[in-house]
Amino acid sequence: MGLELLEERYQAFIEKNPACREQLRILSGYNSLIQLNMRALLDGITVGVCPACAASCCQCMPVDGWFTEGDYFIFRACNEAPFNLRVDHGLPNGCSFLGPAGCVLPPDCRPFPCVKVNCETVSRELERCGAQDAFTNLYEALDRLQEQLWHIIHPETAQHPAAEGSAA
Ligand code: SF4
Ligand code: SF4
Repeated sequence: MGLELLEERYQAFIEKNPACREQLRILSGYNSLIQLNMRALLDGITVGVCPACAASCCQCMPVDGWFTEGDYFIFRACNEAPFNLRVDHGLPNGCSFLGPAGCVLPPDCRPFPCVKVNCETVSRELERCGAQDAFTNLYEALDRLQEQLWHIIHPETAQHPAAEGSAA
């Protein structure tokens, strides 16, 4: 979904449900903690494997980040709309938030698919370092957060169908 449409949906949601802004802010704080802990596990790995990657995940599709509605609302609860962060890198299949030194979005508030889905190389390195269990715990914490988020955004829906952005 494009950034402009996500922003429209966020504005419409907040206008209709102003009290939910604080709930989104609280979840955004938890999200930040989870993502910073994920980064602490992944940074030591990606610095070694990503520069040599022949099929960089951030260059595989011309998207405005892998935002879904839920993670965009979480992002917006604590950040300005990221229109001005978009990078004019000229890469035909590059994500518009890919800067010269990597992702320009805050390291504690990236789209869920960007932080939940690891490639084979990174998964293998997590195993090799003995960090896979720690990553799985954080992944599951993000799943639970997504479920709470779902109920805030879709209060009329009793059952959360599936966590948005979950890895296969
Ligand atoms: S995370 Fe995996 S797919 Fe993405 S750039 Fe690094 S090695 Fe490549
Ligand atoms: S990590 Fe950042 S640059 Fe990479 S796809 Fe996600 S939003 Fe885009």
